[in-house]
Amino acid sequence: KQPDRYAVFGHPIGHSKSPRIHGLFARQTGQDLEYSALDVPAEDFDGALDGFLRQGGQGLNCTIPLKELAWRRADRCSERARRAKAVNTLKREADGSLSGDNTDGVGLVRDLCGNLGLDLAGKRVLLLGAGGASRGILQPLLAERPHSLVIANRTVDKGEQLAGEFTELGAVSACGFADLAGRRFDIILNATAASLQGDLPPLPEDILAPGGACYDLAYGTSPTAFVLWGRAHGAAVSADGLGMLVEQAAEAFFIWRGVRPDTAPVIRLLSEERGF
Ligand code: NDP
Repeated sequence: KQPDRYAVFGHPIGHSKSPRIHGLFARQTGQDLEYSALDVPAEDFDGALDGFLRQGGQGLNCTIPLKELAWRRADRCSERARRAKAVNTLKREADGSLSGDNTDGVGLVRDLCGNLGLDLAGKRVLLLGAGGASRGILQPLLAERPHSLVIANRTVDKGEQLAGEFTELGAVSACGFADLAGRRFDIILNATAASLQGDLPPLPEDILAPGGACYDLAYGTSPTAFVLWGRAHGAAVSADGLGMLVEQAAEAFFIWRGVRPDTAPVIRLLSEERGF
């Protein structure tokens, strides 16, 4: 029997760690599967998905810029994917239909709370950015019952619009970066794309409460500008998104295979390989 086929589509996709991560999960759990990465620009998404399914593909991860297109193609979605309006995990069901889920938020919360030992309950949380990543994580974050969650975004309207979609789930509001002066937060999450350019959103010097935590959803081969900012501003924890990447993959693996891999050795291995 041929191994079951899985893939990640994205554009660009060259540096994706997903094939490596799923390969490690498959070996660890004794699952017979194949997982590849394909460069698929948005305009080719429908055709590439059809081709993948025709060749027997069982499940697909989608990353930038395809998560919204995947959400449109899913025949049904989890509640968290519906709210995110974005799907990063498609599963082909026995009847051939496609189920969509978004595992980014649960991946983030597992890394924050499970791996890094943070507790979001009752905390003042600041979320920087109002793009696709922020939209994807809001429901799982609010389910942890923070005291409040403030979305700060460069384009203030976009932050307000996003906050408005989630107010029934918790105390969420929005503002611009200039409105952060004089405020303090226990946990700051960076979901802007600024890190990708080695840049930082403009933050007041004393915005992080003593003993607070910083987390950058972005990750790379060296600590991001925001992780370094957290360390320089007294954060008890200042981590990047490598753990989230592994945890969102583990949730996708569980959705597809019904088996939960042990993420700790995989995070350890990938951290050791990049040397920090
Ligand atoms: P989007 O392009 O959808 O959103 C980008 C956001 O960043 C917007 O809010 C934008 O503000 C803001 N932004 C961009 N540049 C700057 C800047 N120089 N200063 C301040 N704000 C800026 O991107 P995504 O939401 O999809 O991704 C955001 C980050 O999350 C990326 O770094 C991505 O790698 C990471 N990510 C990590 C995952 C993981 O598993 N670890 C999973 C998913 C995402 P504006 O609205 O004003 O343009």
